[in-house]
Amino acid sequence: MGDFYLCFSVEEKEKPQKATSGEIVGYDFGLSTILTATDNRDIHSPEYLQKDLVGLKKLSRLFSKKRKGSNNWKKARKNLARLHIAIANRRKDRFFKLAHTLSSRYKLMSFEDLDMKKMAKLWGRKVLDHAFSEFLSILKHVSKGYDTVLHFCDRYFPSSKTCCLCDWYNKDLQLKDLVWTCQGCKTKLDRNRSACFNILRAGASAHGLGDIRPHPEAVSVGIQESHLL
Ligand SMILES: [Zn+2]
Repeated sequence: MGDFYLCFSVEEKEKPQKATSGEIVGYDFGLSTILTATDNRDIHSPEYLQKDLVGLKKLSRLFSKKRKGSNNWKKARKNLARLHIAIANRRKDRFFKLAHTLSSRYKLMSFEDLDMKKMAKLWGRKVLDHAFSEFLSILKHVSKGYDTVLHFCDRYFPSSKTCCLCDWYNKDLQLKDLVWTCQGCKTKLDRNRSACFNILRAGASAHGLGDIRPHPEAVSVGIQESHLL
């Protein structure tokens, strides 16, 4: 009778290190502040985009005034196309730099999974100007090189309507309500600040970092100095 040999190959993988509180962040998407962050390092729309829009309007107006097919019309069309490309490149450049900065800073970043088309319908062009989807796809690509985990909460997760301190659910919260008082713990909440902590909490708990709650002062309105986690 012959011998049977069984060969096993075992690969020991290093356990990924758990992120510490300073290395995780939750972001809430908004219009005035693009991303409100749990550590107060909010991300705003750069001013040059606004300047570009002014230039864009001017060139569009010039273009529309030219006779179709004329040399001046062709020239204006070229100038307009050039500016569109320049704006797109500037935005992309900024997104790449931002993606590298954030990926090197955090081990876990938690976002909402937003339906951008629905939001553009609701909020208009401003949402498209932020090009949030483009930023996220760049961030997904860049973060891999840093081993940074991106978490996306469920699209229907009520991050804004839930009090991040006591979980009381405010079913009456409207889009215009930037500040609201929780009936559960009576805290006057900054809508975006509370939402980003809920988003952080969902991401942290999904990745085994436990139930993270902010200090009440971090989300209360009227208190300037935030105390983190
Ligand atoms: Zn509450």
